[in-house]
Amino acid sequence: MATPSTNALGGPYDLIIVGGGIIGLSIAWQTARRSGLKIAVLEKGAGVGEGSTGASSAVCRFRYSLDEVVTLAKDGIAAYQNWREFTGLADPNAQYQREGVLWLPGTDEHWAETQHRRMQSLGVATEVLDATELRERFPAVNPCGLAPDFDSGEGHRCIDGARSFLEVDGGYMDPVSAAQDLVTACRGAGVDVCFNVTVSDVRCQGGRVAGLVLASGELLDAPLVINAAGPWCRDLYRAAGLDLRWDIRPVRIQVLHRDRPAVLPGHIPVTVDMASGIYFRTQNRGQQLIVSSVREEDEREHVEAPDDFNRVPDTEFELYKMHALHHRLPDLPYQGKVTGYCGLYTVNHDDVHPVLGPTEVEGFWVANGFSGHGFKLAPAIGSMLAQAITGTRCEFDTSVPLSFLSVDREPIALDSKSVLA
Ligand SMILES: Cc1cc2nc3c(=O)[nH]c(=O)nc-3n(C[C@H](O)[C@H](O)[C@H](O)COP(=O)(O)OP(=O)(O)OC[C@H]3O[C@@H](n4cnc5c(N)ncnc54)[C@H](O)[C@@H]3O)c2cc1C
Repeated sequence: MATPSTNALGGPYDLIIVGGGIIGLSIAWQTARRSGLKIAVLEKGAGVGEGSTGASSAVCRFRYSLDEVVTLAKDGIAAYQNWREFTGLADPNAQYQREGVLWLPGTDEHWAETQHRRMQSLGVATEVLDATELRERFPAVNPCGLAPDFDSGEGHRCIDGARSFLEVDGGYMDPVSAAQDLVTACRGAGVDVCFNVTVSDVRCQGGRVAGLVLASGELLDAPLVINAAGPWCRDLYRAAGLDLRWDIRPVRIQVLHRDRPAVLPGHIPVTVDMASGIYFRTQNRGQQLIVSSVREEDEREHVEAPDDFNRVPDTEFELYKMHALHHRLPDLPYQGKVTGYCGLYTVNHDDVHPVLGPTEVEGFWVANGFSGHGFKLAPAIGSMLAQAITGTRCEFDTSVPLSFLSVDREPIALDSKSVLA
């Protein structure tokens, strides 16, 4: 027999968030910092970073196809740049790494200038660099406009590419440290952040949410539950009896890493190599390089069971992406062990944008489908939901309305569904 609703976790709650990744924790913190609501975050893992957040490259870039998403990225990154003020922590673990994000558009002569004008009009600091300026600023980066020949592996004579585009305030942040800081901030504000707690069912009464059932058999009461379960979100749709019309599924994403030897000169920004379809950045104070793909074809391997997927990158992926990396960083020695890992994007295949907020099951809200964007957007996503829950605004809020990403919106029309969309 299950225990009654007041339980070891300290319920009943006004709001329970399922999932202690960067999204669930951001929603919890943004709500707690503006309200006295009794909130719990339930996380099945033993600590933060068990899901997509732990595998994230956590690149914080601004350029997106839609102005609203640029605004969300700007607002999210502003919170990371002002992390101490945002979290209220005197000594947070995470620190924003303002490395710059360099976009190399290949041979398209107009791209950088067009993006520069657009981003400036949206209040994002950007610069356009020609090949000479690029060499001066980032001597390790080859300004070639071509992709290497992946099929033959034959070398080519590099030619200077079109002008590139630099997001001055772009960068990255360690995602697990950021999530851990949010746990500390949340707990300081009275939120129950509970690890090793698995939600196994959603309790509904009279067509609306009444609470949750835990794997331990305990029952929790709450009138509002938010599904922030990342790649596991579909389990909770089923539990709530929700037939969501959006096609949201986990997809396997491969990431490589290797050492960054001292022979590579100068500063290496986060770099998006559009000709070759890779991005890379340094980590561990510049001592390592991580490399992954920006190609839509590398985001197509669906995973049925998020607890059981191949976490080792494919040999072919490694060969292609390292070939592209050596072309872009020609001084990178071939000696050096390449390793890697795989994580999961949760992709909304209908329009590659997340879905947020109320569903047709009253009291059951969602925050799912963040593809490769959820880290940078998380503080702004938390803001959108916290504003909708509490009706109040505060510092670091975004002006983008929840309706932009609401469950009942029409799919957003886009030219491409890749991670660069
Ligand atoms: C390889 C990779 C690279 C990426 N790079 C970037 C990038 O450069 N920039 C960027 O902005 N974004 C990036 N992303 C995307 C970003 O990391 C994700 O969008 C974001 O982490 C999603 O966070 P989340 O909280 O929704 O999911 P998660 O981090 O997966 O959190 C969900 C949590 O819910 C828990 N959970 C699930 N079911 C239950 C249950 N029943 N009971 C209790 N707990 C449960 C899980 O254990 C998990 O911890 C990347 C992602 C990957 C995988």
